[in-house]
Amino acid sequence: MANVLVFAEVRGGDLRKVALEAVTAARALAELSGGGSVHALLAGDAGIGKAAEALAQHGADAVLVLEHTGFAQYNPEALAATLAQKLGTGTYSYALFSATAQGRDLSPRVAAKCGVGLAADLTGFTVEGGTVVGQHFTMNGKVIATLALAGTPAILSVRPASFQPAAAPRPLVTEVVTAAADPLASRVKVVELKQGNTGKLDLNDAPVIVAGGRGLKAPEHFKLCEELADAFGNAAVGATRAVTDEGWRPHSDQIGQTGRNVSPTLYIAVGISGAIQHLAGMRTSKTIVAINKDKDAPIFKIADYGIVGDVFEVMPALTAAVKAAKAQG
Ligand SMILES: Cc1cc2nc3c(=O)[nH]c(=O)nc-3n(C[C@H](O)[C@H](O)[C@H](O)COP(=O)(O)OP(=O)(O)OC[C@H]3O[C@@H](n4cnc5c(N)ncnc54)[C@H](O)[C@@H]3O)c2cc1C
Repeated sequence: MANVLVFAEVRGGDLRKVALEAVTAARALAELSGGGSVHALLAGDAGIGKAAEALAQHGADAVLVLEHTGFAQYNPEALAATLAQKLGTGTYSYALFSATAQGRDLSPRVAAKCGVGLAADLTGFTVEGGTVVGQHFTMNGKVIATLALAGTPAILSVRPASFQPAAAPRPLVTEVVTAAADPLASRVKVVELKQGNTGKLDLNDAPVIVAGGRGLKAPEHFKLCEELADAFGNAAVGATRAVTDEGWRPHSDQIGQTGRNVSPTLYIAVGISGAIQHLAGMRTSKTIVAINKDKDAPIFKIADYGIVGDVFEVMPALTAAVKAAKAQG
């Protein structure tokens, strides 16, 4: 039996989808360990407690609500102190984070404070004989490393979209908690939050990503990707490094080894060759569709569906087809 402490990520006062994924993963971990409680830490400005219900609906037995103006923005020092204090009580076998920018920053801080192990960016896990065994993509996604978490407490982070939020309703139980360090005294302050990518949805929250490459020829042709994303209604637009290096799209849109790691339900690669550094950031997508005029482009090796054709012909037709399908309901 293992109790799990999970960090519920908030941005701009709203609970992120990755928080529900993390609670779902924490619930799975507790069940695989023979049952146990899942407690979610929910920190934010006054009023953030209203998001507790969603966490309870996805399997949190209790939500530890930490409301303070000092948590209006991400506050790594005070959060790490608070999570480390909770993990140090002996109540929890595991602390679980999303492997997002926040989680990648926060989880090693907590691990260092507690002197415990961290298995980062897992795409899945099992529990074998009481030991958590997780999968982690390495070598640009060509190798899957299997990591065993020796001993407890221990920390793990899960890659966004590796776990889909699943309903596991619990009665809403909240506990008001206080920060283990003064949030206003933090030496690290977030002074500005820039939109992570140019789309309306964050790349990590979008179930569909339409990513464009150099095959689009010019920045203005990205409107083909934007129109298809709009037709889906739940899509974000990403890009290759070739494109961001050209200044066609901001660096925050870049997917790959030196960009964002994404794992959407549907990834549409538009005029992208499929260089290994690009694949490193998107190969765990559930379904991959590639559009390229070169039938030998490497992207087709990992694509579930390939369209050999000119993006300037295929994209308008695809957008029209998605719109027509949506119109039919
Ligand atoms: C250390 C390092 C780190 C890197 N990190 C990243 C990273 O994080 N992310 C990343 O993406 N790259 C990264 N790269 C760069 C990577 O190696 C590739 O150069 C880059 O991904 C290529 O981008 P692309 O597919 O848009 O362009 P290209 O490789 O030029 O491919 C363009 C494709 O478009 C097709 N095409 C052309 N015209 C049309 C048309 N009209 N219709 C249909 N298809 C068409 C072509 O057939 C071609 O396959 C990195 C490289 C290095 C060395």
